Amino acid sequence: MIITGDSLIGGQAVKGTGAAFRAYNPSLQQSMDPEFTTAEVDQIDQACRLAEAAFDTFRSLSDEKRAVFLETVGEQIMALGDVLVERVMAESGLPRARIEGERGRTVGQLKLFANLLREGSWNDVRIDKALPDRAPPRADIRMRMIGLGPVAVFSASNFPLAFSVAGGDTASAFAAGCPVVLKAHFAHPGTSELVGRAVVKAVEICGLPAGVFSLVTGVGNDIGQQVVRHPSIKAVGFTGSRGGGLALMAVAAARPVPIPVYAEMSSINPVFLLPKALASRAEELAAGFSASLVLGVGQMCTNPGLVIGIAGPDLDRFKAAASKSLEGGAACAMLSPGIAGSYKRGISQLADNADVNTLALAPQSEGKAAPALFDTSSAAFLDQHVLSEEVFGPASLVVACKDIAEMRQIAEELEGQLTATLLMDDADLDAAQQLLPVLERKVGRILANGYPTGVEVCSAMVHGGPFPSTSDGRSTSVGTGAIARFLRPVSYQNLPQPLLPQVLRDEGGAAWRRLEGELTHK
Ligand code: NAP
Repeated sequence: MIITGDSLIGGQAVKGTGAAFRAYNPSLQQSMDPEFTTAEVDQIDQACRLAEAAFDTFRSLSDEKRAVFLETVGEQIMALGDVLVERVMAESGLPRARIEGERGRTVGQLKLFANLLREGSWNDVRIDKALPDRAPPRADIRMRMIGLGPVAVFSASNFPLAFSVAGGDTASAFAAGCPVVLKAHFAHPGTSELVGRAVVKAVEICGLPAGVFSLVTGVGNDIGQQVVRHPSIKAVGFTGSRGGGLALMAVAAARPVPIPVYAEMSSINPVFLLPKALASRAEELAAGFSASLVLGVGQMCTNPGLVIGIAGPDLDRFKAAASKSLEGGAACAMLSPGIAGSYKRGISQLADNADVNTLALAPQSEGKAAPALFDTSSAAFLDQHVLSEEVFGPASLVVACKDIAEMRQIAEELEGQLTATLLMDDADLDAAQQLLPVLERKVGRILANGYPTGVEVCSAMVHGGPFPSTSDGRSTSVGTGAIARFLRPVSYQNLPQPLLPQVLRDEGGAAWRRLEGELTHK
């Protein structure tokens, strides 16, 4: 399949008239062919209108047909073969094994949502039949979920497949019956076009209206903001910077009809070193932490950017072992010059801070990032908000506390996070118990004796958390729960059977239903 540099609007490849740009190969530090164009206002308008026009047909498909569509998208992605893998490697600087793994995860996510559709519980069918003899009589009331409408999805730079064109946001929106207008990330436009063309092919194969999917390409904040402002768009999925997420939330809130924005933004993912575990295996914990920190050149939303332990010889052993392992780390290409520039600024700010010690700082080079480890006191951490800001890349800050009470105080002061990790032994149960209630309020996922990077895609996963880790802490962007972001409930009171949607009729449709308050399965 050839990359032409076009946007894909309602199944057609179209050239924009806005600014031209090229993809950039961060490993070779050179730009790549072809030239891409920026979509214009009319094209964005057309993509959004076509999405709205496709909505009723798309959401009315049977669960089975939408499941087959999701699987077909996965098959078409696989059919792109090595052309896709090589383009992603070139545009991201990430190695083949990572990209092949990410492609597997992307296809796996699509299958997971296909299975969810076949299983049927997402409809959340509730049936309370009429009670005509009750005083007062009760009407026949039935409820199910429907899609919100067309969703604007912003792809993430750091997962060019799994959080991009056909990633988790798109898969969950499609599963909910929502067409998608995709704002391609400028750091991997060729990857986006290839995957976009695979989605367009799946739309054709499944005989769906072309407006089910459009991909708009270009540079500049205007494109994304136009999509979010468009009256046909009913929700937004976003992964990226806090500034970008906040800007889009403001645009969505200022519309005549405001819409929800599900933005995943910044998280430093605290790791708590509990005292008995630290005493018994400081070096082992340091090895696991260091491996997690450098995974994907630290460009993970779940990167462990903060470590909290009790000051003393055991924490010193941890710091020494982690520093030793990290300072030998080679500088690796980051996803884009912009991200490399922010990393450089972030670590310079830490290195220049009078209250922060540099434990390990391997030589950095242009466009690349080498690991960095710093430490500070709990007093400085609590005093300076800047120390709790995300440095996106392989950098982390160790905070030394007096005791568990002070660790708890640090946890209390943290902003909302995607994850918190407890590295603990059985003898640390009491300490963990003291932290747990605070962590439940602060984060979306609590781990014991693992590392936060590597997010399993499954039903029980929560990849979300209170602000600013996400804009809406009631949601997850990974796992089957992600579909809930793009659904809303509708009740049907006293509708005759032929008017009811199939899943609510007496003869049924969905396997799971809450009948007179009781969950039943056919
Ligand atoms: P970004 O700058 O937020 O961009 C993400 C997407 O949003 C892009 O398509 C971008 O396109 C658009 N966008 C950004 N600001 C916008 C605005 N004001 N109005 C409308 N659209 C806007 O994120 P990035 O380029 O992927 O990475 C930059 C930084 O984000 C990183 O250094 C890191 O700090 C953070 N990040 C965090 C995570 C995480 O999971 N926590 C993941 C990735 C990145 P345009 O610029 O073309 O509008």
